[in-house]
Amino acid sequence: MTSEQPLFERMALIGLGLLGSSLARVAKRDGLVGHIAGSTRSRETLERAFELGFLDSIHETPAEAVEGADLVVLCAPVGANADIAAAIAGSLRPGAIVTDVGSVKQAIVRDVGPYIPAGVHLVPGHPVAGTEKSGPDHGFAELFEDRYCILTPPPGTDEAAVDKVGELWRRAGSRVEVMDPHHHDRVLAITSHLPHLIAYTIVGTASDLENQLLREDAENGDVVRTRDVIRYSAGGFRDFTRIAASPPEMWRDIFLNNRETVLEMLGRFTEDLTALQRAIRWGEGDKLHDWFERTREIRQGVVDMGQAGSFNPVEDKDANEA
Ligand code: NAP
Repeated sequence: MTSEQPLFERMALIGLGLLGSSLARVAKRDGLVGHIAGSTRSRETLERAFELGFLDSIHETPAEAVEGADLVVLCAPVGANADIAAAIAGSLRPGAIVTDVGSVKQAIVRDVGPYIPAGVHLVPGHPVAGTEKSGPDHGFAELFEDRYCILTPPPGTDEAAVDKVGELWRRAGSRVEVMDPHHHDRVLAITSHLPHLIAYTIVGTASDLENQLLREDAENGDVVRTRDVIRYSAGGFRDFTRIAASPPEMWRDIFLNNRETVLEMLGRFTEDLTALQRAIRWGEGDKLHDWFERTREIRQGVVDMGQAGSFNPVEDKDANEA
């Protein structure tokens, strides 16, 4: 508990899943805002979120939720932001701050920027914190602790508004950085988006292989061995399956909204993969060894920067984040 004053009188959350409900929980626990209003797409999630006790009011539409709010946080998948912005534009209070938690940052300026009325401040943000779970039941107040939150204000954004959003995230436990949105999207494409794409690919490929092995066993009249991919998943595959369980809608939107950058990173990755493939084919052990030595050092750097994940009593947030 903190004795500090609330930073905002009324925060409206649009989208009440993992991120929205986690922000609401920490805001309520620590008195970061006076009132928390929530709105989401489905009636079911709206009622469930209210039942969980971290909202002060719930609203049928985003436009109703943002009325009178001095802070609006868009917490839906990034592909939904343009429609939400169009719906709330006419109800935003003068002087309000609109921010978001989306994993892609050039797209929000493109999709939401045009709807922001004069006198309202857009301060895009991305808390680099998450798990593969979705929905309001899986949020937890500690999600943002010791995690980075990257703000990407467009040039000319009101500095006081940027500071205020930064202060909210700092009080939620995050380390706040300000970054150019293009740089953000390139860095996250390689550190988050590509790893997810690789996980989605390898788990799909392994599942296809398993089905084929089962078919072959049956055709050959052999004893059909069931689910070996699951049984032996501890050998490195397990972490990929966790990442590949991440919400499909959210990740569809990330790839479609960071398309060019992800394709660029995929090109670089494919070149390096081919180089390693060649080293294996030609028995170039030194090359493989040197590469693995270098990547091991990178892991140590991640640990040294305190970003290797930590056990969380509520939920293991060592998991993947977008
Ligand atoms: P989530 O748990 O799946 O929640 C998404 C929420 O958005 C749900 O409440 C959903 O509503 C709502 N929603 C979807 N479309 C909507 C619309 N058109 N209008 C209003 N609400 C809508 O996802 P999340 O993990 O919280 O992710 C939310 C955002 O955070 C995404 O932009 C994502 O890129 C970003 N992010 C995620 C992570 C992560 O690791 N999960 C990390 C950092 C940032 P219903 O349930 O009512 O359908």
